[in-house]
Amino acid sequence: MSSSSSSSSLIFPQPTESRATELVQNYNNVLAKVHALNPKTRLVAVSKFKPASDIMALYSIGVRHFGENYVQELVAKSEELPKDICWHFIGGLQSGKCKDLSNKVSNLWAVETVDSLKKCRQLNNARERKEGEVINVYLQVNTSGEEQKSGFLQMSDLEETIKYIQSDDCKKLELVGLMTIGSIAESKSGHEENYDFKKLVEWKKVLDEKYHFDLELSMGMSNDYEQAIKQGSSCVRVGSSIFGARPPKSEK
Ligand SMILES: *Cc1c(COP(=O)(O)O)cnc(C)c1O
Repeated sequence: MSSSSSSSSLIFPQPTESRATELVQNYNNVLAKVHALNPKTRLVAVSKFKPASDIMALYSIGVRHFGENYVQELVAKSEELPKDICWHFIGGLQSGKCKDLSNKVSNLWAVETVDSLKKCRQLNNARERKEGEVINVYLQVNTSGEEQKSGFLQMSDLEETIKYIQSDDCKKLELVGLMTIGSIAESKSGHEENYDFKKLVEWKKVLDEKYHFDLELSMGMSNDYEQAIKQGSSCVRVGSSIFGARPPKSEK
């Protein structure tokens, strides 16, 4: 394997100068707000539906953590783009796609949307067969209880999954934290505290005490990342505030 790809960055798709300027400005604006609240918070740039050249604009200023929602799109981008990108899978995770995700994205850094023991087994087993790197896992919690949202609803199910990840049967996954997508209503409510984020913080407390963890929290998107950081988020996932609006779902 070649050791460096950055010296030959011209082989990667490049943005126009004006698009690059716009993206860097947007990213730096968000990063400044994030760091003003907590310099340790990780900012994941969510690039779904956006071209590889947009990713390269931020890559060229040193950004490495990018989030994607669709396995096919992620596989294609990971093949096309530099291998030192740390990809976060943040989309709805289907059992049937775990194997591809594990096998076809060699530099998959984290899967943030793990919501069942079965999917953990599939991710792990596919990686073991390929002898790939360890994948960081965030267990998704359905804090709002909305039907259309994925995530664990019962602490007991989540603990069963934790026990599997900690066991000798699971060598290729590492539990790093909890993740949630707060409800839109809660994000817009103007409550002093976002109850969905508060709930995730409570689950973390229980688990940290019981298992002596210090779990990360992935919570906060364009509309609510500042609130999320105030409530203890360690990882915010920001898309439209960096890359601009996406086409509505129905058009995709
Ligand atoms: C799309 C998406 C984001 C980014 O959303 P924005 O509102 O555009 O910042 C963050 N997290 C998840 C899980 C997403 O699907």
